[in-house]
Amino acid sequence: MKIFKKPLPFQEYCLHLKKKGTIGFVPTMGCLHEGHVSLIKQSSKKCNYTIVSIFVNPLQFGPKEDFSRYPRPRKLDLDLCRKEKVEAVFLPDEKTFYPEDFSLLIEETMLSTTHCGALRPGHFSGVVTVVSKLLNLSLPDFIFMGQKDYQQCLVIKRLLRDLNFPVKIIICPTLRENDGLAKSSRNIYLSEDERKKACGIYKALSLILKKYKTSSKKFTPADWKKLNSILTGELEKIPDFKIQYADLVDGESLKDISLHSKKIIALVAGMLGKTRLIDNLLIK
Ligand code: AMP
Repeated sequence: MKIFKKPLPFQEYCLHLKKKGTIGFVPTMGCLHEGHVSLIKQSSKKCNYTIVSIFVNPLQFGPKEDFSRYPRPRKLDLDLCRKEKVEAVFLPDEKTFYPEDFSLLIEETMLSTTHCGALRPGHFSGVVTVVSKLLNLSLPDFIFMGQKDYQQCLVIKRLLRDLNFPVKIIICPTLRENDGLAKSSRNIYLSEDERKKACGIYKALSLILKKYKTSSKKFTPADWKKLNSILTGELEKIPDFKIQYADLVDGESLKDISLHSKKIIALVAGMLGKTRLIDNLLIK
C-alpha cells in the first residue's frame, strides 16, 4: 500500500492509476471504524483501485469544536487500510495541504444553510473546499460517502453537479452498533453511561418509521407535523440529551415537507454531555 503525504506525488500516482482502471475514493478524518470499512469495501467491489484519504480538516471545525482533541490513531488506521487492500492512502500534512497564504473557499449556498450548516457556520464551506481539493488530487470515478452524514451527502452531490466534477457519488448505508447507535469516530468520547443513553436516538427514529409504515392513511403535511412532534417527544425522554434539531423534512431540499415531497428524511442532532451526535433515517 502506498502512503502519500505531499499532494503532487499523490496526484501523479492517481493519474497513473487512472490510465489503468477506475478509481474509487473514500475521504475520511481517520479513527476508522466499520462504517468507514463498509465504504472501502463497496469501493473495492466497484472500482479497480481504492484510495482513502485521512485528514482532520481544520477548515470544517468551528473555534469551539473538537479539532485538536479529534482522535488520530494513525497506525491503526493504516493497518486497517492495509488489511482492506487499499491501493493508496493520502495522509496530507496540514502545512503542505494548506499553504500559509491559502486563500480560497468554495461555498454551497442552499443546502448548507439549514440544520448542521446553521449550527456550524463555515462547516460545509470547509467540507466542500477540502473535498474539491481531494477530488482534484485523487481524480476518482466514484466518491463513496455515508448516509450517516445525510446533509453532507446532499451538499457534495450538489458540488459535483454544479461544478461539473466528472465523479459519481455513491451513498452507503449507515453502519450501526448492535443497539442501533450509528458508528462514529466521536462515540469514543461517550462515557459508559452516555453510551447507554445514546441508543435512544435510533430507537426514536425507528419508532417514527414504524408509525409511518404501519399507518394506512396518505400523510398530509399536518400528519407529518404530528409525527415530528412524536419524534421530538421521544428524544426528550433521553436523559441529558440536548436536542439541537429533530426534523422531518423533504429529503431532497431539506425544506418543509410539501405534498410533492418524494422523499422524507428524519434528521436529528444533539449533545450528550460534551459529545455531538447526529443521525437520520429515511422515512419515505
Ligand atoms: P468521517 O471520518 O467521520 O469524516 O467520515 C468519513 C466518511 O465515512 C463519511 O462519508 C461518513 O458519512 C462515513 N461514515 C461515518 N460513519 C459512518 C457509518 N456509521 N456508516 C457508514 N458510513 C459512515
